Amino acid sequence: MSVIDEVKSRLDIVDIITESVTLKKSGQSYTGFCPFHSNTKTPSFVVFPHTQTWRCFGACAEGGDLFSFIMKREGCDFKEALTLLAHRAGVVVEPPTPEATQQEAVQHKLFELNAAAALYFHQLLLNSSAAATTRQYIAQRTLTTETIATFQMGYALHQRDALKQHFMGRGYSEADLIAVGLLIQPDDGSESYDRFRHRLMIPIRNPKGQVIGFGARALADTQQPKYLNSPQTALFDKSATLFGLDLAKQHIHQKNQVIIVEGYMDVIQAYQRGARNVVAQMGTAFTEPQLKLVAGRHTQIVLALDSDAAGNAATLRSLSLARQWLPKKARPNLTTRGGVDYEAYTSQELYVAALPQGQDPDDVLKQGLAVWQKLIDQAMPALDFYEQIILKQTNLQTPQGKAQVVHELMPLYREIEDEVEKTARVQQLARKIGLDERLLIAELKNNPVKLAPTKTLAPQPVLNGKQPAPFEKAKTVPSGLEEYCLAIIITQPTTLVLANEMLEKHRLASLTMHDFNQADNKEIFRSLELWTVSEVPRFEILLDMVGELFEPKLKFLLNHWHRQLTLLPLEQIGRGLISCIIEMRASYCKKNINEVALLQQEMQLQGDYQSSHYYGAIATKHIEQLTLINLTQKSLSISGQILARTNNNNKPLSSSRLKSY
Ligand SMILES: [Zn+2]
Repeated sequence: MSVIDEVKSRLDIVDIITESVTLKKSGQSYTGFCPFHSNTKTPSFVVFPHTQTWRCFGACAEGGDLFSFIMKREGCDFKEALTLLAHRAGVVVEPPTPEATQQEAVQHKLFELNAAAALYFHQLLLNSSAAATTRQYIAQRTLTTETIATFQMGYALHQRDALKQHFMGRGYSEADLIAVGLLIQPDDGSESYDRFRHRLMIPIRNPKGQVIGFGARALADTQQPKYLNSPQTALFDKSATLFGLDLAKQHIHQKNQVIIVEGYMDVIQAYQRGARNVVAQMGTAFTEPQLKLVAGRHTQIVLALDSDAAGNAATLRSLSLARQWLPKKARPNLTTRGGVDYEAYTSQELYVAALPQGQDPDDVLKQGLAVWQKLIDQAMPALDFYEQIILKQTNLQTPQGKAQVVHELMPLYREIEDEVEKTARVQQLARKIGLDERLLIAELKNNPVKLAPTKTLAPQPVLNGKQPAPFEKAKTVPSGLEEYCLAIIITQPTTLVLANEMLEKHRLASLTMHDFNQADNKEIFRSLELWTVSEVPRFEILLDMVGELFEPKLKFLLNHWHRQLTLLPLEQIGRGLISCIIEMRASYCKKNINEVALLQQEMQLQGDYQSSHYYGAIATKHIEQLTLINLTQKSLSISGQILARTNNNNKPLSSSRLKSY
């Protein structure tokens, strides 16, 4: 049994979830208010003890197993969730390989070196006579002794290799010093020397508080550049770092808000003035990994930008990109004509607070925390901000200008969750740029990704107050469908694209990680999605992508199915994938229908008619979805049988048969 299975077998999902959600027994299941979205009217969150899974039937429409729940609750990755749960279950996670141990030892030494260097610089700043002018500079910026100590600010001597001499006598090698970026090794092979000389040193830490690199500010006017960072090292990746997060994370959590400023001096000053949920990006552009550090949960993200940066093209581009990076959710939607389509929407908004002309955060904070807070409270949703700037910067008198505005804004409007808001925005835009709103609404709907409604569905049964529709009794989802699906993609990466195209033709959503219930399968699928579009998808690359944690599972998938799959013609494998996806969806859909119908009855018995009605509506929605799936299954002439169970008929599909797809 793998560690993952062992942990699952020892823990009960109901026990773990009741620690953070108040659950009420409703028939075989447990219901409660979803901890991941803020609706408190209906208990849309359901835990199913017999399958050890959970699902939110409300706004987030998410679900999964115990691991998925912990990952979402803690905002952590799979590995961290495993560590946490293994500890709870008393399961020992397998000892690391010798290479991993070796690597960890090296990393540990480098962390130690960075910590020692931070202390070395700090002591110099406090005590060295050479740092006198630097102490004056800091005094001018009104930083207190406490702040200097909190951020462990330091000073690098104005000498060629003072740091090198200091550390090489203390158990560190030249290679170590180069590895963390403290020394520069010239290309011509001449003597290495200190990277940071005569600079104000600011240690940069990871969220755990370990020093990963340094930011260094010039102290003389002649020094270039003004700010110098450590280079990219094994410990430091500036595009995935937010300065100050180690100190700010607790305050971010308390305030449910994170404020992102441009420079680390801004963070230090803000901290001293009492604004402690502030972090800084490390370069000019805001990156996806940086956003991921703070996205999730219900944290409001506010970018505090100076007025120059706020209006420039690079910032706008990164804003529009950042919106796309925010976690996306897929939500099944009932179309007006009775079909179901999946719509992706951004569940979190990014806000922008533009600082007054010519002021940096400290100028605002100097006027008091209340003034700062007011500025932050007035932050605009990035979309409004973006819209405002685009309209301001474009010449709306010309047809090209109008087209450009529509082109820039329409993709962002399509992501808006609320239909009323979406339409209102389009109408507003139509007025502002003087175009017929019908034209824009047509453009809005002209979304190639979105699936068209289907016309062929018969009127659906209404469930309210009646027996659940006569679908077969709920049974657990056949184990292995998820795994089989993954195995096919691993064996034949091209089948994923083909299957998705086919699904789209049948007005069904593409395969996403939400189709999987098991957190490890979700994670593997996420890697597979990237891997299948890589230039040459080789298995070794995939192993690297998923990491050692999922290596055993990947190998299992290959050993179990790969051989028989490679014997089959490509078309047949592709067909196998589609039928597998459809069967998986049908199976989950049936399960949901049965669960929800039971809940509906249960609520009615308890006299809670509002909830009963709510579940009835959800059941109807799922029944419609199942009908669509069944129709597709029929039209693909897949009689619910997946490839692995058919006889070993290797005859490729005839081309006429393929055309009918
Ligand atoms: Zn929810």
